[in-house]
Amino acid sequence: MSLLDESSARARDAADPLRGWREQFHFPRCAAGEPLYFVGNSLGLQPKATRATLEQELDDWAALGVEGHFDAKHPWLPYHEEVRANLAHVVGALPQEVVAMNSLTANLHFLMISFYRPTRERYRIVIEDTAFPSDSYAVQSQVDFHAARAGFDPRNGVLRLKAREGESALRTADILETIERAAGSIALLLLGGVNYLTGQLFDLPAITECARRHGIAVGWDLAHAAGNVPVNLHDLGCDFAAWCSYKYLNSGPGAVAGAFVHERHLRDRSLPRLAGWWGNDPATRFRMGPDFEPVASADAWQLSNPPILALAPLRVSLEIFAAATIGALREKSLALTGCLEALLLASPLARRLRLLTPSDPAQRGAQLSLVLEGANRESARRLHAAGVFCDFREPDVIRLAPAPLYNSFYDVWRVVQVLNEVFPS
Ligand SMILES: *Cc1c(COP(=O)(O)O)cnc(C)c1O
Repeated sequence: MSLLDESSARARDAADPLRGWREQFHFPRCAAGEPLYFVGNSLGLQPKATRATLEQELDDWAALGVEGHFDAKHPWLPYHEEVRANLAHVVGALPQEVVAMNSLTANLHFLMISFYRPTRERYRIVIEDTAFPSDSYAVQSQVDFHAARAGFDPRNGVLRLKAREGESALRTADILETIERAAGSIALLLLGGVNYLTGQLFDLPAITECARRHGIAVGWDLAHAAGNVPVNLHDLGCDFAAWCSYKYLNSGPGAVAGAFVHERHLRDRSLPRLAGWWGNDPATRFRMGPDFEPVASADAWQLSNPPILALAPLRVSLEIFAAATIGALREKSLALTGCLEALLLASPLARRLRLLTPSDPAQRGAQLSLVLEGANRESARRLHAAGVFCDFREPDVIRLAPAPLYNSFYDVWRVVQVLNEVFPS
């Protein structure tokens, strides 16, 4: 990777086939001048097209009232079905395998109702030791929910995968070895496709194959993977997945989340499931009968009629991803993140810096997590005052995520200059 200087960064941007997308987004105001937005892994930027799409729904509601279900520009009744194809594109699924609904942690719970089926012998859930707290709480509460009835001890119901002493990433061989050793006690594996803290992208195929070979149900939390790295959920063969849409997917704070259920489960009526009327087959939904007829798609997990005002931003964002394509975004992302790493390591800051994120591009997405000697909340504030939007996690981790849709090579060059100014060596 040849090092960027200011003019080569400008030249890379001029040659970037995705460069036009940047101006399709609103960048936040910033006293220091042009903002350096490196926190799309936490809250993606607002596409400029979102406002008009949202206003269209407000206008249709004002002008049509209940008739908007049929007569809105985008009729509300089948609205969630219209985002399906683009949602499937983002995670490599068949259209009938995905549904936009709820929020991420809620979806994890609803899917665990179906796919976490503990017995007295096999009851453990495997997660990363550095899992996002909500995932830790969710799996422990599922364990607690089942423990008394199934007759197991909830206190060792969660098996946390730890990195080796002195390492931050998990080794695939170690993960597989743990699965094989403990398979007899494991009911479910639920990992983040990309770990939120370290930015490590796991070997999804190897881990999924190994767990399934041992009869373990497999779910992936794609919060940090969806819209960031290519995944092929259908071919992967995992049982389920869920993700949020406000990080790389730019659909706004608390946006409607996604869920995936593999095709092989879609006609299985023996799966336990919490039901609601929007999971009923649309062909019979409005007969308003008392008996649930699940539709043979991931929609069967949907409970309520969907929030149209919240789906509108998702619809806009997914259209952008369909147009830009995951493949082209990944190509630029590899180059951007590679440049960021190379510049950081060639800068004076390198002496005080340790990367938690694997240096192998195949094991990471758009994020680099840096442990910076001497960094603290106050330095995060100084970075912000200098125009850098980034994320700080206690005690000393700074996460930087160049998002290929709207970050430029020039952004990457400049953020390294600013980091070196804020942390002089
Ligand atoms: C962002 C994130 C969450 C957030 O959960 P919500 O239900 O959307 O509030 C959960 N899990 C992971 C892994 C995340 O990265």
